[in-house]
Amino acid sequence: MKAKLVYPYSDSLLNYHFADNHPLKQERLRLTYVLSKELGLLDKVREIVPSSATREDIEMFHTPDYVDAVIASHDDSYINARYGIGTADNPSFPEMYDAGARYVGATLDAMKEIIKGASNAFVISGGLHHAQRSEASGFCIFNDIVVSILHLLKKKPCRVLYFDFDAHHADGVQNAFYRSKDVLTISVHQTGKTLFPGTGFVYETGAGEGVGYSVNIPLLPGGGTPELTRVLDEIVVPLFESYRPNLLVTQLGVDGHYLDPLAHLTYTTKGYETVLRRLRILSSSICDIGWLATGGGGYNVANVARLWTLFLSIILDEKVPGKIPQDFVDKCKELNYECPAAIRDQDEVVQMYFTREEVSLDLERTLRRLKELIFPYHGLA
Ligand SMILES: [Zn+2]
Repeated sequence: MKAKLVYPYSDSLLNYHFADNHPLKQERLRLTYVLSKELGLLDKVREIVPSSATREDIEMFHTPDYVDAVIASHDDSYINARYGIGTADNPSFPEMYDAGARYVGATLDAMKEIIKGASNAFVISGGLHHAQRSEASGFCIFNDIVVSILHLLKKKPCRVLYFDFDAHHADGVQNAFYRSKDVLTISVHQTGKTLFPGTGFVYETGAGEGVGYSVNIPLLPGGGTPELTRVLDEIVVPLFESYRPNLLVTQLGVDGHYLDPLAHLTYTTKGYETVLRRLRILSSSICDIGWLATGGGGYNVANVARLWTLFLSIILDEKVPGKIPQDFVDKCKELNYECPAAIRDQDEVVQMYFTREEVSLDLERTLRRLKELIFPYHGLA
């Protein structure tokens, strides 16, 4: 029998709390858990209580001086600009080190279960893709994704395909593996010309041995489901089939959804579903180690819970009812979060920012250039 999907969760994850007025609200994790449970999806998974990563684990990627600086962040007045701590994005808080270590632990525990034989995992707390070797960045203290992939590569040499559809460029993960062909990183995001972290351009293709193994698809503000599915068909699927990864790792940040307040993309559930169904089929036929899915960005709290619950159902290949249970909608309202009534988006998105034609024409140019730069390294025309 196939091993159940691994789902690390505990309320201790909610301690990753920068400040009350910070956009990252960890109630999104609690509400995702509650809704997924209410819809019966957690009966189909193996829940685990995440442990904390050790300092040794964290230092597989991060430098000791940076780890020391995070440990020193014992109150909210601590500022260490050299390490990105105490900034508006990453204000220090008393349990900063413990909270960061717990997040790495959740993803690392899931990776260890996959190495032991579980075929997939969904780590809703994971996906801190901006954290750099020696710097906190973009709400990310430690990079759970990089640490977990490095752990796998230490255990067994293999190929990992990392795909990230968060609205922001996956700079921390890309930088970590920029010179490696063991990890093929693909990031589709709102262009760095208009959004943090200001990177992720087509010409960032890797260095040394890793040239051709960093792939970036920047979209104009307004980019949505048509662009996401086009990137899937023209870039992700061909590279997946030619690279033949042993493991798929995905960062499933939902700040590119049209209801999200921090970015300017217009993805809908239709686009997300198309991508995730395809990834499920590809990973189950190609990846002998499996699929490690993580969360990521997402700042419309109730919407995040709805989307990650839908994602879990797709990864599990389980049906969910179309309507969100009324008591869940009411619970969100009590917390001052508005929750859509249906699990899938009903409306056409009104095009904002650039027009559909402008966004589409820009993507056309991007894809042409990208294929010239990347495809020759993969035997693709
Ligand atoms: Zn993001």
